[in-house]
Amino acid sequence: MSETRPAPVVTRFAPSPTGFLHIGGARTALFNWLYARGRGGKFLLRVEDTDRARSTPEATEAILKGLRWLGLDHDGEVISQFDGAARHAAVAHELLAAGKAYKCFASQDEIAAFREAARAEGKSTLFRSPWRDADPASHPDAPHVIRIKAPQDGVTVIRDRVQGDVTIRNDQLDDMVLLRADGSPVYMLAVVVDDHDMGVTHVIRGDDHLNNAARQMMIYDAMGWDVPVWAHIPLIHGPDGKKLSKRHGALGAQEYQAMGYPAAGMRNYLARLGWSHGDDEFFTDDQALDWFDLDGIGKSPARFDLKKLENLSGQHIAIADDAALRQEIEDYLAAAGQSPLSQAQAENLQTAMYCLKDRARTFPELLDKARFILAIRPIEPDEKARKALGSVSNGILSELTPQLQNVSWTRNDLEEVLNGFAAAQGTKFGKLAGPLRAALAGRTVTPSVFDMMLVLGREETLGRLMDASSQQGHAPLA
Ligand code: GLU
Repeated sequence: MSETRPAPVVTRFAPSPTGFLHIGGARTALFNWLYARGRGGKFLLRVEDTDRARSTPEATEAILKGLRWLGLDHDGEVISQFDGAARHAAVAHELLAAGKAYKCFASQDEIAAFREAARAEGKSTLFRSPWRDADPASHPDAPHVIRIKAPQDGVTVIRDRVQGDVTIRNDQLDDMVLLRADGSPVYMLAVVVDDHDMGVTHVIRGDDHLNNAARQMMIYDAMGWDVPVWAHIPLIHGPDGKKLSKRHGALGAQEYQAMGYPAAGMRNYLARLGWSHGDDEFFTDDQALDWFDLDGIGKSPARFDLKKLENLSGQHIAIADDAALRQEIEDYLAAAGQSPLSQAQAENLQTAMYCLKDRARTFPELLDKARFILAIRPIEPDEKARKALGSVSNGILSELTPQLQNVSWTRNDLEEVLNGFAAAQGTKFGKLAGPLRAALAGRTVTPSVFDMMLVLGREETLGRLMDASSQQGHAPLA
């Protein structure tokens, strides 16, 4: 209705399906997702699969899987760029018909000879085709490419929301090929036509594509199409300031799932890689959606920092919903190739979640604390637990058990019984805690004794205490 109403935001993520979802790609996807979703807009996914030799369906699947893990859902179908080849070619022909592009019959040899001569004369080696202004009547019936008529003087200015105005002299742009001699469209044409047809309003992508933007502008201008808002984001570097590479750690987004980072922590971390909102480090998805903007994107490369990821992950685990966390841990186990939890284990894990999620930075850390609930009797104590059991006199655990038979199984009553028991032994509960942890969990670093007892229940607790006391008796410590 109103002409002044801004067009709804449409962003896209346009990966080339030649490998897994790279950490940099995941961040690009996230920025586009946040920008669109935070504004009630659309986030589209286009697979740039025109390079048939390098694109594989497995890579597309891996990228989709990575996006799914990160919860970056897209609108509509996945668009295949290759499927649009006929449309891309049609646009080249439209430009040809409008006199904004031309048929070029120069052979590779002629182009090479042109460059050679230009070099010898110390001139620019950009190819200037003799066919640009040729009379079509003079055209031979021979193979040809279609080239765009690039502007020859003046400048092209890319108004980039991250990089500022980037000015390129037009005499540095050549008459780019739009359609090859076999009729196939070039990548640069495909990107522009797709972005236009998909109604993309904002192109947020790595700054390795900044140079492409100048050439893509030519096509927008020649077609008279609106140029999208550009935002070319700096790449990600390793902690040493060098380009991120394998030696800095995992590069695939999903490897972080298999290492046990929660998706929410990863999203928070990736959002902070190159974008900031004041001093905020930890934030929820809702906050990120509310706050994310292009102004907050920095101009210099972000540095990958695993410590920060761990820290944020821990905070996200701590605030997560117990059932959702249990599900995510089950997904993590599958991604890491570990055996799944039984239904009983999964249920126990969820019951215990409240006392596990506070100080775990990753799922392996959480599961380590959850050992007491996942283990099956008799519990095999580790070295430290064995020592802890040896620090109290034999039989003390079995003496405790009758007192636990009839107590009501609440934190208060359990505390009362255990404190009373310790006092009767002439000691403090603190002294008993180590052996009790060892008996209940087979290890010494665990949730609190009371939490474990409450989660395990009376029967299992008593069973474990009996098991430990019989181990104490029968297997004297060295
Ligand atoms: N397919 C390109 C890439 O994976 C992205 C192109 C674009 O975003 O315009 O780097």
